[in-house]
Amino acid sequence: MMLSGLVAVGPVQRAVATPVAVDDATYTLFGRVFPDPHGCLPRMAPFSPWSKGNVCAADFILFDEMISGLGFLQEKFPDYIDLFRLDERYANPDFVSAGLATADLSHEPNPLWTVRVTDESVADTNKKHFLFPLSIHGIERAGAEGGIRAVEDLATWAACERNASASPACAAESPLPHPILETTPDLSITAGEALKKAAVYFVFPNPDGWRRGDRDNGVFYQRYNGNGVDLNRDWPSLGFVFDPYTPFSEPESRAFGDALKQIRAKWDGGIDLHGQLIDRAFSFTLLGQGPRDFGANQATLDVVEGAWKDAEARLAWSALIKPNDAPADDPRLYGVQWGTVWDTIGYTTTGAFGDWIGAPLGLNADVAIDNEMSLSHISNCGTGVCFIPEAEQLHVDGNKSLVYSLINFSFRPENTTFRVPGRTAYLDHSLVVQRTSVSAAKLPLLGLKPQEDITAQLDATNDWIHEFDVLGPAKKIFNGGFKVDVRVLNVAAVSAGAMSSTVVERLVKGEWEVVNSYYNQDDIYLQAGQTVDVNEPEPGRWRVRIDGPETGFIFNIGVDFRQAQAWPNPVQAPYRATNLGFFTDLNAYAQRPFEGVTADDIMSGAVDLSAFDSLVIADQVLPGYVEPGRSGPAQASILMAGADGSNPTYPCASPTTIDPAPPGCETYFEWTVDGTKNNQSMNVRLEWLTSANDYDLYVERFAQKGEYWTPVAQSAGGANPEIAALLKPVPGRYRARVVNWASAEPIPQEVEVTFSNEAPKPATGSRTEAELKAFAARLRAFVEGGGNLILTDGALRLLAAMGVVDRGQIHDFSVYAGFIGFTQDGSDATYDMPLARNVQRPGAAEGPSHRHQTYEPVPLGFAIQDPEGGDASTSPVWSIDQVTWEKLGGSTAGTTTGDQVTLGELKLGKGVVKVIGALLPMPTDRYFHPYGLADYSVTYAGYQLLENAVAYTAPGRTKVKGTKVVKPRPELPATGVSSAEAFLGTLILAGAAALVQWRRRNA
Ligand SMILES: [Zn+2]
Repeated sequence: MMLSGLVAVGPVQRAVATPVAVDDATYTLFGRVFPDPHGCLPRMAPFSPWSKGNVCAADFILFDEMISGLGFLQEKFPDYIDLFRLDERYANPDFVSAGLATADLSHEPNPLWTVRVTDESVADTNKKHFLFPLSIHGIERAGAEGGIRAVEDLATWAACERNASASPACAAESPLPHPILETTPDLSITAGEALKKAAVYFVFPNPDGWRRGDRDNGVFYQRYNGNGVDLNRDWPSLGFVFDPYTPFSEPESRAFGDALKQIRAKWDGGIDLHGQLIDRAFSFTLLGQGPRDFGANQATLDVVEGAWKDAEARLAWSALIKPNDAPADDPRLYGVQWGTVWDTIGYTTTGAFGDWIGAPLGLNADVAIDNEMSLSHISNCGTGVCFIPEAEQLHVDGNKSLVYSLINFSFRPENTTFRVPGRTAYLDHSLVVQRTSVSAAKLPLLGLKPQEDITAQLDATNDWIHEFDVLGPAKKIFNGGFKVDVRVLNVAAVSAGAMSSTVVERLVKGEWEVVNSYYNQDDIYLQAGQTVDVNEPEPGRWRVRIDGPETGFIFNIGVDFRQAQAWPNPVQAPYRATNLGFFTDLNAYAQRPFEGVTADDIMSGAVDLSAFDSLVIADQVLPGYVEPGRSGPAQASILMAGADGSNPTYPCASPTTIDPAPPGCETYFEWTVDGTKNNQSMNVRLEWLTSANDYDLYVERFAQKGEYWTPVAQSAGGANPEIAALLKPVPGRYRARVVNWASAEPIPQEVEVTFSNEAPKPATGSRTEAELKAFAARLRAFVEGGGNLILTDGALRLLAAMGVVDRGQIHDFSVYAGFIGFTQDGSDATYDMPLARNVQRPGAAEGPSHRHQTYEPVPLGFAIQDPEGGDASTSPVWSIDQVTWEKLGGSTAGTTTGDQVTLGELKLGKGVVKVIGALLPMPTDRYFHPYGLADYSVTYAGYQLLENAVAYTAPGRTKVKGTKVVKPRPELPATGVSSAEAFLGTLILAGAAALVQWRRRNA
């Protein structure tokens, strides 16, 4: 989709004072260094009761005002505030920004500022460390506006707590000592105590994007840095990486990455403060996508639920905000919703700063969160709306909730016990996905230098193409990499020429092959510079080309050759990943440990399953058994052309903003996927005649149970054609919903559906069908005898081997991210069912059809983007046909894409089989994953589902009382387990470990 229609290009005149105090006289007058937007108004609804200061802020804080204001605060409160520049503190001249683009090829770099807030009289050794990046996207002012004022609050409160006459502001802050959670003082530590125990860092990662919007520059803020690069796509992380993002290519991310890791190798938490246009909630709190263990999951829930509760009270003064229990059609916004990135904002990404804060190769923090505040995007002066006092006051109030909750709840113990009431085993399948050999960058050849830099002009005379030779050792040259800098004629670093993309290509056997290109995220984010990085270029003929709709511009390019790589490409880091890591990590928190048992021991009877209450099998059928692949042709392709009258003629932009869609906004093309054909993938392509128009494509499938259309895949960018691809489509009726996003006249479009039978070559199996049957018979006996068998992901196929469900009724298919819809019929929720208990918590965000994401695709290596940057749906889900399942007596607690059961249970004999179709897939090496793969990436809902599923003790079984096994977390209260019980637990654990040892040695 494109939003170009909303952009008003051109500077917006703003000449008012902010204001910011910089001396004692103005400080006394304003009551604060950074007074609030509502500072001059009564402290009651419809104004903010939480506002600070005596005067009202009338504009965004300028970059220079931030420095002088924080500098003045440091003078006032030297025991609590330390303001510094990374280049000076770390004596590294490279620790500066890329610098805003100028019309020639020069840059104007800005310093990278950090402010540390802590009680400097207490040593850092035992302090928790917290990080708050402010406005990494320059157009999203909410982070900086809120974060800067939180700095002032914390230092003021702590200083006043120590000395009530420390500042003229103290009088307004009674009672002292001041709780940091002002809405719930009973739950709060005081500011003085917080700063004794915590070092809180606020960083300004994107000075270029900020400065471009300051009124002394007179132009609007910029999302990107001066290189035209999105700094929130530039951070390395485990799993899938969209390779045009070239992690750590930008000086800002490299400098902050380096400095923050020097400060501390492992941090305690961080929240990256962003903004968004507008959505159903004023604020979305996004849980990071890392391999979060259960302790980190619980710590994260404590913070987001605490912040949600605080924000409900803190934002209630505004007429814009409705309470959490208000109906969806109430036109006001919910205050805060929290959830996974996809469940809140509808997409996810790779390379986010917030994820790096939680990543093992980043700051490894337990709590890593991003937050989005509405009315803080291009409305912050891309459109001329600019500073709205009420919205900015909400940004200040809302971001304070997040900052103070993270600090406060990190000092309160959370319940980290994963409840496992019965004796529970898991199948130790011993499979791993690994890469042991390391590929690394080529070392520079000694004595060789990189070649001379190149500059050129691209215009109509050369068709916007410049060819050049890359030299090699034959010419005594070694190029570790090169960086292509593109600048276009601009006014104060704004140019419409940025609608194009730079492409770098190499001549291979007479054909130009794309090596890398600038990823143009969306042409609403106007900038004047682009860079493209290339590592280890092969000697030969190369070219730089400008690709885009305009031809009226003149581009200056510079090719900067260097001995080092242009970005620190790991090429391929070694790794060893398995979903079994989930159980070993979880055992640090489990009430009773999960005991690993092997298939051999189950089949031979060496392990007596009847001694267990529950058995979990994650994703595998039987290690070594390979199911014969399907053969035969795929379905023939289907071509559907829009006839007159079926074309959506009404440009309605986002279909989700107007519900139901107005007449003429959308149209449908329907077809059937034939279950008798070998359809390994399905490709839906929507094409229209004039590329200047914009249609979007949503692929939906018809649910037989409940009779509703359910989303399957989508492609909703600005390009023609839109292509949505998915793996192994479940048979049934499908339709393409074609939405007219921005098309003025009726243009015939065409939808083509193609199928392919191409599949990855199956591995060779070492187990026979008979062995599978024998294994399945043991499982069936376990269930019939009273056991609780939990099958996740690919293990659902065991239901066929056990003779419970026909193999033909068990499907696997792919989705954007692993999820379960908590509904049987598309409308009513199943949250009351035991398997779904506690998934829908206060403030939790739901996707469509009561959807909750259960695992994150990126850490496991599942691609979320295709090479062109469109959405890719590659995350596996396993299901059972709902009509079949319920006919057999199964109950349904959740479905994925309608009529496909992905959460349910079926009684069998004295026991029960439970299925969770999307939870613990094995990581995949099929897509680009240069930093390696995570073992698992279960969301809070995923953990909850497993905890619900193992809540079982077998009938008539003598209960063995278990023990809490607790990984040392400093906040944990004593467990209170007697030594006898602890001893028993240790025995169980040791016995299981011995079994595993024995098997491994004999494998
Ligand atoms: Zn953002």
